[in-house]
Amino acid sequence: MRPGEICARHYQQAQPVVLQWRQGVIHDLRTATGATTTDTWIAPALLDPQVNGFAGVDFQRDELSGEKLLAATRRLRASGCTRFLFTLVTDEWPKLVGRLERVNRLRAAHEELRHAIAGWHVEGPFLSTEPGFHGAHNPAMMLDPTPAHIRELRAVTETDPVLLTIAPERQGALDAIRLARSLGITVSLGHTNASAETLRQALHAGATGFTHLGNACPQELDRHDNILWRALDTPGLTVSLIPDRIHVSPPLFRLIHRALAAEAIYYTTDAMASAGAPPGSYTIGALQVEVGADQIVRQPGTSNYAGSALRPIDGVFRAAAMLGCDWRQVWGGFSVRPAKFIGIPHGLTPGCPADFCLVQTDETGRLKSLRVFCRGEETF
Ligand SMILES: [Zn+2]
Repeated sequence: MRPGEICARHYQQAQPVVLQWRQGVIHDLRTATGATTTDTWIAPALLDPQVNGFAGVDFQRDELSGEKLLAATRRLRASGCTRFLFTLVTDEWPKLVGRLERVNRLRAAHEELRHAIAGWHVEGPFLSTEPGFHGAHNPAMMLDPTPAHIRELRAVTETDPVLLTIAPERQGALDAIRLARSLGITVSLGHTNASAETLRQALHAGATGFTHLGNACPQELDRHDNILWRALDTPGLTVSLIPDRIHVSPPLFRLIHRALAAEAIYYTTDAMASAGAPPGSYTIGALQVEVGADQIVRQPGTSNYAGSALRPIDGVFRAAAMLGCDWRQVWGGFSVRPAKFIGIPHGLTPGCPADFCLVQTDETGRLKSLRVFCRGEETF
């Protein structure tokens, strides 16, 4: 790995900086001296905590190969995202564990995958079976969590960052949350219709997040009391949002940003195989879905959305468009904030991997060019 340095404008502070790296790791970041002018911005690479598949590759398949995983990883990287949490959705528990073991082996065998797969997101099977709340997950496969499940999850993922999405109203969930926290697993509530009291108990037990707020709930909600109000009224939860304009409407997106501090919000694509791929028929494990030109991932015969077809870089610009702000103001929500939430060192900081994006925009703020560097090497 060659050492390198680059001069560009810092995405937050706006002044030109010089970033230096050695052995793929950031060594120094300092303000550029002299009369430096550049129209290129530097920002930490995007980090996505919920990726179920990408570029035609479905991560839920037992036969997922190292080549396919590598192909999806490279396409994600070209979309600005150098690291992600490999995400598995509800299935029979032994199958989920088997997939984690298998992908862990694939990852161990390839340096690029070891870097790109920063950890694991297990979304299910400890979720709500209630109509609307289970979303595209199969309720027949859902379970109450036991200490044995949590210990098995920790054993198979070793010391990796793990995000576990769980419905706290399930029998045994509060004990599972306590145990997961004690084992270093980050717990996020989601696909849940928990009461306000149960949400508070879950927070007290160690849950810190709420997964894709605004989704995994019925089309129609009680105007006085529903999971959206309850989650927003539970201080201390960091919520993820899918900023594709589809999963969360622009008005709700803006309202959530007014209700919560910026630090309490991060973004994710919740991407499935059709993201970064043309419209057509795709799978999420056993589920067949249709993706139209509108990028909506539909489960035929239902009103469920089943993941998104969003590319990470587009998520940044759509979030900025919905909020009517500059892309630089939302970039942290798709890079350093999710990393911090899960406990992954990531950012334009000495000691972090030299994963960064060079961004140029036109006079209207639209993306003109994106160059992505992963451990100091440019991705093409
Ligand atoms: Zn979900």
